[in-house]
Amino acid sequence: THFGFRDVPVGDKQKLVGEVFSSVAGNYDLMNDLMSLGIHRVWKRYFVATAQVKPGDRVLDLAGGTGDIAALLKDRVGATGELVLGDINGAMLRVGRDRMTDRGNVRGFEYVQCNAQTLPFPDASFDLVTIAFGLRNVTDKDAALREMHRVLKVGGQARVLEFSEVKADWFKPLYDFHSFQVLPRLGKLFAQDADSYRYLAESIRKHPPQDELRSMMEAAGFARCDYKNLSAGIVAIHTGYKV
Ligand code: SAM
Repeated sequence: THFGFRDVPVGDKQKLVGEVFSSVAGNYDLMNDLMSLGIHRVWKRYFVATAQVKPGDRVLDLAGGTGDIAALLKDRVGATGELVLGDINGAMLRVGRDRMTDRGNVRGFEYVQCNAQTLPFPDASFDLVTIAFGLRNVTDKDAALREMHRVLKVGGQARVLEFSEVKADWFKPLYDFHSFQVLPRLGKLFAQDADSYRYLAESIRKHPPQDELRSMMEAAGFARCDYKNLSAGIVAIHTGYKV
C-alpha cells in the first residue's frame, strides 16, 4: 500500500492512520530517536516544562501513544495529580501502559481509547490538555480542537506540539532530503516498513502551518492563542486558553 493521502477519500484516512500506528507501535520509540537524532526528546521536555500546570492538576494527553509526554507531565502534577492518556490506537496505548508500569508509574494514570474528535469526557474536566505529534493525524482537526476546548476548565491551557513549517531557507533542501530520502529508508531498514514513514513525511507537509493553526485554535474558541517555533519551525508549540 501507499499512504498518499492525496489519493484517498477523507473517510478512509482514519483507517489508514490506524494501520500506520498499529504497524509502527513496537518500533515507535526507536524510530523517533533515529529519525530525529534524539531531538524529539528535547522538544518534548520543553513542551512539558513550559506547560501551565501545577501539582494536583488533572491533565489529558491526547494521542498520547507510548506515553512520553504523560511520563514527563507526571513530574509536574506530582503524586496528587491525575493523568489521562487518550489514544485512538489500542496497540500504541498498550505499549504506553506497559512502559509506564515498567517505570513504576501506576497510580494517577488512566488509559482511554478514544478519538480526539469525540472525547468521552464531560465538559470542563481538565486543567490542561496536550496533544503532541497527534493533531496531524486527526481527520477533522477543527472538531478535535473544539473538543479540547470543551473538556478544559475555565482558565485551563491547551498545548499542541506538532511539526510545522520550516522557516530557515537554507535548511529546506536538507529537510526535504531527510524527509523523502532518509526517512523511508530508515523505516525500511529498522522497521521493515517504508510506507508508514513515507506517510509520515507527507502528513507533515500537509499539516497547517503556524499562522493557520493559530487561526484554527481561535475558531475553536480558544483565547490568547500563540505559538513558538522550535528548531527553526521543524516543530511549533501552539497554546490557547479557555476563558
Ligand atoms: N504523543 C506521542 C508522542 O509524542 O510520542 C505519540 C505521537 S504518535 C506520532 C501519534 C498518535 O496519535 C498515535 O499513537 C495515534 O494512534 C494517535 N492518533 C491518531 N489519530 C488519532 C485520533 N483521531 N484520536 C486520538 N489519537 C489519534
